[in-house]
Amino acid sequence: MKYIFVTGGVISGLGKGITSSSIGRLLKSRGIKVTAIKIDPYLNIDAGTMNPIEHGEVFVLDDGGEADLDLGNYERFLDISLTSNHNITTGKVYRSVIEKERLGEYLGKTVQIIPHITNEIKTHIMNVAEATGAEVCIVELGGTVGDIESMPFLEAVRQMNSEMGKGQDCLFVHTTLVPIMGTVGEQKTKPTQHSVKELRSIGIQPDIIVARAKEPLEESIKKKISLFCDVPVEAVISCPDARSIYEVPMILNDQGITDYIIDRFKLNAKGPDLAEWRDFANRIINPSKTVKIALVGKYTHLGDSYISHMEAFHHAGAEAGTKVDVIFVDSEVVQQFGPTDDLKKADAILIPGGFGTRGIEGKIMTANYARLNNVPFLGVCLGFQIATIEFARNMLAMTDANSTEFDQKTKHPVVDLLPEQKNVTKMGATMRLGAQPVVLTEGSKAFKMYNSALIMERHRHRYEVNPKYIEDFEKAGWHFTGRSADGVKMEIAELDGHPFYVASQFHPEFKSRPNKPSPLHLNLVKAAVKRKYGLAD
Ligand code: GLN
Repeated sequence: MKYIFVTGGVISGLGKGITSSSIGRLLKSRGIKVTAIKIDPYLNIDAGTMNPIEHGEVFVLDDGGEADLDLGNYERFLDISLTSNHNITTGKVYRSVIEKERLGEYLGKTVQIIPHITNEIKTHIMNVAEATGAEVCIVELGGTVGDIESMPFLEAVRQMNSEMGKGQDCLFVHTTLVPIMGTVGEQKTKPTQHSVKELRSIGIQPDIIVARAKEPLEESIKKKISLFCDVPVEAVISCPDARSIYEVPMILNDQGITDYIIDRFKLNAKGPDLAEWRDFANRIINPSKTVKIALVGKYTHLGDSYISHMEAFHHAGAEAGTKVDVIFVDSEVVQQFGPTDDLKKADAILIPGGFGTRGIEGKIMTANYARLNNVPFLGVCLGFQIATIEFARNMLAMTDANSTEFDQKTKHPVVDLLPEQKNVTKMGATMRLGAQPVVLTEGSKAFKMYNSALIMERHRHRYEVNPKYIEDFEKAGWHFTGRSADGVKMEIAELDGHPFYVASQFHPEFKSRPNKPSPLHLNLVKAAVKRKYGLAD
């Protein structure tokens, strides 16, 4: 097993996740089997309880793991499915060490960060990597070099390198920022120099430097970084702003990073095959049409809160030959002022997942607007529950219909906890999480979109459509055409007599990939194109 450790310097938000994912994609394009691990130095066990405003979206894995959004990037770039073991946090590491200590496994020794915590980290990384059968494991270290929190992780990977025969089985990629100063646009290398110095002070010499800058690095700047940081000039890679994240693998590849890694590791690689990926990226960069999709939610000022939806729209747009402009609309504003101009200009509407009461009535108004005005609509998770509530209120005359999440006393709890959920009081561990089978009704829109009678999709929610009301809904035209294997839980609903009004209890965005877009996002985008351009698909 070979390891590529990706660290970050200077500032956060340099796109370390995209660099890691792109390197993975490039090795994969040479026939090498790759896996990836994300290290998050925070104390949370996982991202499950983290606020999307602070930390971006919580990404859900097949096994129900609630992970950092970078695992979504790895899955999308590498086209693999990961498990929660691929996200290591300080919380997980300490929990495991403390449990062992309580069991007496350390035989009376003083339990310390070095060697006990560092050993735990090394073992975890190696076990996870080896279990996948990959040849190369990319390990991305969250945070910035120099943070107190990431010290034990850096020390652990330093030890790994030295135990595995320095440089033979481990490579260090350091991502930095090259700011551009003054009117002449001078590229500055000092922050890179300082951050490499910091890395060296903990015993790690980078093998490759990926420098982010607005523009491509000048040759003289590459040479300067090479000289000051003791990295061969061919291993100083420039990563300028790209038109799309999916273009980054090509940008890195053109500078020889793939060959450099293959040579250093003496890997058996086949000829490059990036044609399909290049074609996909080109379709994103050169669309022939544009549609506007309004995303009506609560965390609308932070695009990362909905990153999987944004990517699913890229995948769908590439397939449908259109650019998708996502416009964020704050549901609280809709609640206060009714459908906003932004909402009215949209060619389609998405209500994504969410928790809590804030902005709920605005979302119900949005669903009502889409239904009555024939605007293509997709509701996901909370959006599915919202569409169901709206339908009950306005088509079944249950004016106070609601979810018991928002109104415990409603006379019409059309969305409710199922009996098995009601006894669970502790937060966490009460959610339906991860991939579960969904059975689709033959002949339905859902069946046609998925072209299959049985699908696996990922979940993250507590509440379900109340089985008591299913018949009423069906009779009035809100059809549940996707259900759980036991038939009790409603998974997809579609509306009669509307160009496209569909909702799902599961999250199709988590499994959307380049060249394999989520069928629901794809069909929403196609319906938007049809509405705007009047074309058949
Ligand atoms: N709050 C809703 C529930 O718990 C929806 C969750 C979601 O959208 N992820 O069921």
